[in-house]
Amino acid sequence: MKKFFSTLVVVSATTLLFNACKKDAKEAVPNAASEVSQATLSKISSLGFSAENVHKVDNGYLVEGDIILTDENLNAPSASPNLIIAQEEQYRTTNLVKGLPRIITVSVTNLPTVYSDATNDAINRYNAQNLQIKFQRVSSGGAIDIIGFNEGPSGGYITLGSSGFPTSSGDPYSQIKMNTNQYAYGSNPDAGYIASVIQHEMGHCIGFRHTDYMNRAYSCGGRHSNEGSAGVGAIHIPGTPSKADANSFMLACSDGSDRSFNANDVIALNYLY
Ligand SMILES: [Zn+2]
Repeated sequence: MKKFFSTLVVVSATTLLFNACKKDAKEAVPNAASEVSQATLSKISSLGFSAENVHKVDNGYLVEGDIILTDENLNAPSASPNLIIAQEEQYRTTNLVKGLPRIITVSVTNLPTVYSDATNDAINRYNAQNLQIKFQRVSSGGAIDIIGFNEGPSGGYITLGSSGFPTSSGDPYSQIKMNTNQYAYGSNPDAGYIASVIQHEMGHCIGFRHTDYMNRAYSCGGRHSNEGSAGVGAIHIPGTPSKADANSFMLACSDGSDRSFNANDVIALNYLY
């Protein structure tokens, strides 16, 4: 797999890890947990998400590093099983995008050209799968709007992007935030790498959880961290491997490379859409 950003490679070699999903919000936001009520943490946990390092944000709660759970997410009943196709598996959320076949428009607001190009690349990668959802680039007002934020590294990690999950009414999550900080993608960002991060955040928007949610250490390093699956079932797709699933586009943390769909991701995409 191709590696990008020699500066980031150097940084990685000096123990900073850069991830598609800020790995350890606890380190980044030391007092975050205290801002969130125990009742909310219990709801987050009951939906099968890690209640560790939860951070209150404008439109909900940031969990598992890069996922925003809205109040609607937290109050929605959990009726559907997770989707599991391997031991380090593809997982889905309770809500999926409904009304298939469906075209989901995507816009980019106030971001440098490379992010715009990367968005088109990510859209093409999805559309090449011939799913029942198609993404379509629009100039503004897309069903998913991609905006920027600027946040430097903290606690040894940097957030590359964040997004959320579909609504209970079956619409995709409406916003992806991409980090424009120079330490996120370097001073000369690689469009392919950014595309892979947008691809990952789009995955959340249509209902994908982290492939390694059972153990974030698989992609993020550090200690074993089982994010739990309380209250939800699991479906194994026959014929898929039960060993660790390397290079899934939905691994919690990036290795700094352009990580697109692997074979199991394609199976999961076709299973859901
Ligand atoms: Zn993620």
